[in-house]
Amino acid sequence: MKITALAGGVGGAKFAQGLYRTIPKEDLTVIVNTGDDFEHFGLAVSPDVDTVCYTLAGLENPESGWGRADETWNAISNVKVLGGPSWFQLGDRDLATHLERTRRLNLGYSLSEITRDFCKAWRIDCRVIPMTDSRVRTTVLTDEGALPFQEYFVRRHCEPRVTGFRFDGIHTAEPAPGVLEEISSSDAIILCPSNPWVSIDPILSVPGIQPAVQNSRVVSISPIIQGRALKGPAAKMYKELGIEPSALAIANHFRYILTGIVFDSQDAHLKPHIEKLGIGTFTCNTIMEDSSGCARLARDVLHFIGSL
Ligand code: GDP
Ligand code: CA
Repeated sequence: MKITALAGGVGGAKFAQGLYRTIPKEDLTVIVNTGDDFEHFGLAVSPDVDTVCYTLAGLENPESGWGRADETWNAISNVKVLGGPSWFQLGDRDLATHLERTRRLNLGYSLSEITRDFCKAWRIDCRVIPMTDSRVRTTVLTDEGALPFQEYFVRRHCEPRVTGFRFDGIHTAEPAPGVLEEISSSDAIILCPSNPWVSIDPILSVPGIQPAVQNSRVVSISPIIQGRALKGPAAKMYKELGIEPSALAIANHFRYILTGIVFDSQDAHLKPHIEKLGIGTFTCNTIMEDSSGCARLARDVLHFIGSL
């Protein structure tokens, strides 16, 4: 079964890793959000693409879920000594990725080409494709004004109250080469348990992606368990936008494309409400506590897809 997974950072990477260990690698494509990308010290940083690649390559920091294992912080701590910005943590190993990516971008290579080459170097055997090679930037609209995503997420620790989102550059963005082909040749599309607002929505907003996805079986995994996100601001965002965070909210969010949704057994009481939307349901343990947990959830999701 050929699968295309849409992913953000940490939640997306964990589930993608589960798939990677479960299905033949040539049958897996991961399309990754680039709305979080930004420039820092003149370097091109692609946090979600890197989180997915580091995780698939087994190079990730297992505690944080992002960044690299065995990381050191010599560069950024010396920037701090000089009075430079240190609010965005950049490890020394991670910095090498941004340096080399920026060098290649300056030579005219695209983000998707560079990502493909990096995957080869890291011995990742599935396809990882950034959603677009065009410049798209997520802006979070808040009660304190419009904030570029990393300012909101990292510098302000998601504290400002969210009123909406804007994906700057999205209208003229094009899907990266291979994205539409992989989607249409897949047997199912999986929306990873990533933040719906700022990880999955930007991908689906790239012109052409949603219509392609709509022609396929689409299954999402809820990142919300018992009204809470395991990590990050997804639940806070729903609340601030006047929506009770739950698997039902996720189902409603994507109801225009969903065939089915997988959510945690602890939320089994939501089953009838979601099925009323015409969406198939499957409940199981959706907490991926370690890499065998990621693979376990992937097997459950694939089993559900097979039954649809
Ligand atoms: P980010 O880009 O690094 O913020 O990561 P994502 O958008 O890909 O994922 C963030 C979401 O992952 C959060 O809403 C979490 O609730 C969800 N998440 C993280 N770990 C797990 C897990 O083990 N199970 C489930 N169901 N969701 C998870
Ligand atoms: Ca992200």
